Amino acid sequence: MNMSFNLNALLRDNIRKLVPYSSARDEFKGEASVWLDANENPFGSPLPHDYNRYPDPLQHQLKHKLSKIKGVPAEHMFLGNGSDEAIDLLYRAFCTPQVDNVILVPPTYGMYEVSANINDIAVRKVNLTNDYQLNLDGIAEAIDQHTKLLFICSPNNPTGNSINAQDIETILVNFNGIVVIDEAYINYSKQKSFTQALAEFPNLVILQTLSKAWGLAALRLGLAFASKEIIEVFNKIKPPYNINQATQDLVLEALDGVDIINEWIKATVAEREVLVSKLATLAQVEHITPSDANFVLVKLSEPRALYAYLVEQGIIVRDRSKVTLCEGCLRITVGTKPENERLLEAIQTFYN
Ligand SMILES: *Cc1c(COP(=O)(O)O)cnc(C)c1O
Repeated sequence: MNMSFNLNALLRDNIRKLVPYSSARDEFKGEASVWLDANENPFGSPLPHDYNRYPDPLQHQLKHKLSKIKGVPAEHMFLGNGSDEAIDLLYRAFCTPQVDNVILVPPTYGMYEVSANINDIAVRKVNLTNDYQLNLDGIAEAIDQHTKLLFICSPNNPTGNSINAQDIETILVNFNGIVVIDEAYINYSKQKSFTQALAEFPNLVILQTLSKAWGLAALRLGLAFASKEIIEVFNKIKPPYNINQATQDLVLEALDGVDIINEWIKATVAEREVLVSKLATLAQVEHITPSDANFVLVKLSEPRALYAYLVEQGIIVRDRSKVTLCEGCLRITVGTKPENERLLEAIQTFYN
C-alpha cells in the first residue's frame, strides 16, 4: 500500500484546471438517423467500407473486449496511438517543463528519454546494476520533490531480463510520484503482470502494447492500465479521436485470434531457447543475458564488424555495442526457425 500518494498534488496546474475539448460525439451520444453535428461527408468514403463518421473517442467496444482478455475493467484502461502516446501524455499530465524531473534506469527503452526531451523535462539517470536490476539506493538518492515519474521496463529492452518484482514493489510503496511499468514484452515472460496490483497502488501505471506478441505493430495500439482517476486524466488530455476507426475495427477482429497468438508466443519462446543454446556453443560469444522477451542481448567479439557483415547478408539485428552497460552487445530478435538458422549460419561463417 502507498498511503501518501496524492494525484491532485502531482498533476500540473494547467492540466488540473483544463477544460477539455468537447467533440460532437461527446455532446450527443444516443441513437439517431440524421447526423448533422460533426461536418462529416454524408455520402460515404471512396472505399469498400465507409469511414466518413468520426470514431468512438473512448473506444467502448474495443475496451470491452480487451478488458476480458486482460482481466482489467475498462474504466482502468486507456488506449493510445501506440505506447508512445501514453508515454507522452504522462509527461504532459505530470511534468512541468524546466521544473520537474523523471527518473530513468538505463540501459532501457529509448523513447522515455526522447519524450522527456521533447517535453523539456530533466532526466535523472540511475543505471541498472551489472546484472541489470534496479539500484534502489541510487534511485532513492536521485528522487527529490520535483520527481514526478519513474519508468521501469520489465522485461527490459534492450537487455531482455525481467526486473525483480519485489524491488518494483519497494518503489511503488515508497515513491509518491507515478511508477510506470512498461510490460511491452510481458507475453513472453515467466513473470506475472502487475495488472492485478492496480487496486493496491494508486501511483501505478502499466503500459502494454499490441505491437509485439499480438503482431499488430502497424495498427498502433498501446494500452495503459491505472486507477480510474489517472485514466480520467489521460482521457481529458488526449487528442479526441486518437484511435482511428480502421484500427478499432481491425483490432476487434484480431482479438478473436487469442489461440494463434498463444501458439506464436510458445513457438517464439521455444525458438529463443534454441537460439540461446546454439549461440552459447560459439567461442566468440562471451555472454547471453537470460531473456524473458522475444529477443536476446548477446555479448560477442567484434560486434560492429559482425553487424556490418550480417547487413551484407541481408540480416538486420540491432547494434547496442555503444550503449552503456551493453558494450560489445548485439540485440537479436527471435525470428522464425529458418530465419534463426540463417542468422546462426551467417554468424558462424563470419567467425570462421
Ligand atoms: C516495442 C516497445 C514498445 C511498443 O511501443 P508501441 O508504440 O506500442 O509500438 C513499448 N515499450 C517498449 C519497451 C518496447 O520495446
